[in-house]
Amino acid sequence: MKAVRFHEFGGLEKLQYEDALVPKIGPSEVLVRVRACALNHLDIWARGGTRSDRIPLPHISGSDISGEISETGDLVHGHLKGEKVLVIPGISCGTCDYCSNGWDSLCESYKIVGYETQGGYAEYVAVPGANILPLPDKLDFDHAAAVPLVFVTAWHMLVTRAHLAPGETVLVWAAGSGVGSAAVQVAKLLGARVITTVGNDSKKEKALNLGADFVINHHSQDVPGEIKRITNGRKVNVVFDHVGEATWEKSMKSMAPAGRLVNCGVTSGGKAEIDIRYVFVKQFSLMGSYMGGRGELLKVLSFFEDGKLRPVVDSVFPLAEAAKAQERMERSEQFGKIVLKVP
Ligand SMILES: [Zn+2]
Repeated sequence: MKAVRFHEFGGLEKLQYEDALVPKIGPSEVLVRVRACALNHLDIWARGGTRSDRIPLPHISGSDISGEISETGDLVHGHLKGEKVLVIPGISCGTCDYCSNGWDSLCESYKIVGYETQGGYAEYVAVPGANILPLPDKLDFDHAAAVPLVFVTAWHMLVTRAHLAPGETVLVWAAGSGVGSAAVQVAKLLGARVITTVGNDSKKEKALNLGADFVINHHSQDVPGEIKRITNGRKVNVVFDHVGEATWEKSMKSMAPAGRLVNCGVTSGGKAEIDIRYVFVKQFSLMGSYMGGRGELLKVLSFFEDGKLRPVVDSVFPLAEAAKAQERMERSEQFGKIVLKVP
């Protein structure tokens, strides 16, 4: 089969479009003929060698996969060859305390498809039968692939962790990122007032079209100052962050008393200072979040049926141009998800 792989960690030039063996499936696995695979920042971390001990080499990235079933293992029931499917990006045991209570990503055996396993930058991928969902009726392959990882992450952050409530105000950093474009929509669905940011004025209109109430340019404008102005000094109840170092101090300055900051990643770096006095006096909550559970993904997918949530596809590249696609993401040129089409 054709696949995009890297054999050693490094820059974009390490990505090679080449021939690879079609994966062999185990009895509880399914072989999926990939039709589309969306990029995530995780793919760039994997290639760069962050947590390199967890990445099998040579490596095929790609966590958000749609396609058709090509083969099923003997122990897989309820799925047929040719069925159009979406892959759940998290693999967990399904039976431990954490899995049983919806905290799948805390399972000891938790793995992300295409990060700690071989992924969807290829014509075929092997995944557990338990990770197969029918392709949502309203979505084609390209749009479906743009949904799972970022929407389950945004849902887990805003609903399960931060308990964002109707009438509250939330700051969503970087609406143009995949997870930001999902968070703006989920926050509106929950009845919150959404202030978001973009790094380029040309993205403002797109953020408003997603439902954001206010958009700030985080490069040319003073974010905490603008938030104070927009909220008449009240600031925001929840901060949705996936940037880390570059946004940390601004996030702290933007939170109202009893504010909750929820973070799922650190695209700008992971070190920040905390003035603990500020945290206890203002009674802030600082929350980590990592992916989300199977149940949360099923819940969030139900909102795509009636169009209350929609995938945001920035661009579609052929599989062979995966390096170009990752370059677009590294430069933050996208608004929403970048998708690889697999012919
Ligand atoms: Zn488990």
